[in-house]
Amino acid sequence: MIVCDPDGFGHGGIGKGYETVEAVKCENIGPTVYGKMETMGLYMMHEYTHWKNLVAPPLGKETSDEAYRPNGVRNLTKKKAKRNADSYAWFATEDFWTAVCQTNYQDPQPSNDTDPICKFGVCRIEKRS
Ligand SMILES: [Zn+2]
Repeated sequence: MIVCDPDGFGHGGIGKGYETVEAVKCENIGPTVYGKMETMGLYMMHEYTHWKNLVAPPLGKETSDEAYRPNGVRNLTKKKAKRNADSYAWFATEDFWTAVCQTNYQDPQPSNDTDPICKFGVCRIEKRS
């Protein structure tokens, strides 16, 4: 796996930023499950679930990309959610922040799939030429 330059990604580590990338902290998340919870760990987990040799034994096969982000994964059918990479990444992310921040986050609102850290859009890694 290659971790690209942080330009265009915007999210740092858990409680730790670097260069132009903001740290993700409890006080910055708010009351709902939100794109602000995104960390590099979320992306790593998402990508790991695509690795057949890593996840095939428990899941039966590698995951695919059916939907992204908090609302996207919650709107999937159970069948699609089971094979969706972001479903696992967001489950773990919500569980992590719930424990660390000792907060029971409310369901995401429609606007919570966007992220002010990434200029109110969906964070993404830009492919460079
Ligand atoms: Zn994916």
